[in-house]
Amino acid sequence: MPEWIHPGIRAVFFDAVGTLLFPEPSALAVYADLVRRSGHDVSEAEIRERFVAAYRAQEEADRAAGWATSEERERERWHRIVTTTLRGVPDPDACFRELFDHFSRPTAWRLAPGAENVIGALTRRGLTLGLGTNYDARVWPVLDGFPALDPLRPRVVVSAAVGFRKPATGFFREVIRTAGCGPHEMLFVGDDIDNDYEGASAAGLDAVLFDRQDRVPLVRNRINRLTELIDPPG
Ligand SMILES: [Mg+2]
Repeated sequence: MPEWIHPGIRAVFFDAVGTLLFPEPSALAVYADLVRRSGHDVSEAEIRERFVAAYRAQEEADRAAGWATSEERERERWHRIVTTTLRGVPDPDACFRELFDHFSRPTAWRLAPGAENVIGALTRRGLTLGLGTNYDARVWPVLDGFPALDPLRPRVVVSAAVGFRKPATGFFREVIRTAGCGPHEMLFVGDDIDNDYEGASAAGLDAVLFDRQDRVPLVRNRINRLTELIDPPG
């Protein structure tokens, strides 16, 4: 096992979206398909640009609110992101409902390559595994479709249920409590430098950035493939 799963580590927690689970087809393709079906004409480039801007605006709103969240806030976040991104389509509220439901279904997601092997190997090592996600209660029906993630299920921490989202220390305190060990005995694995890597580090956990597209080369603890958690490259 590579250095970050050293003998002092007793628990490994994972981020969900972008780490263990990916939208398939991509979120952009799903939005673009919906726009096409509505008869509206917006390019994929324009949809992407609008989505990124709307998503960032909601991140800033959450930061200003001290990272407080709830199921209601998550629904409001996605309503704003969808209706801003799809502005001009005939019935944006209907689009929101369709998209919100779409991403609650396991068929909208695929498991990250190697995830099953990694979870199996870590389980055999006797590590406590869990999930720490900024997704909302929709994560439960999604997990139903992925038995490979069953070892994580007894310890799923959902920000909307905690009341604080990543990167807040309050969220990671709940992760630590759920794991039942000290922060320095924990490794958090996620794809977001701010929410996962910096958030977990600030709460005293070890962290590894899952940098699939090699975007953040300056981060020390970094993997490009999940399997590097159990099988270092080279
Ligand atoms: Mg993520």
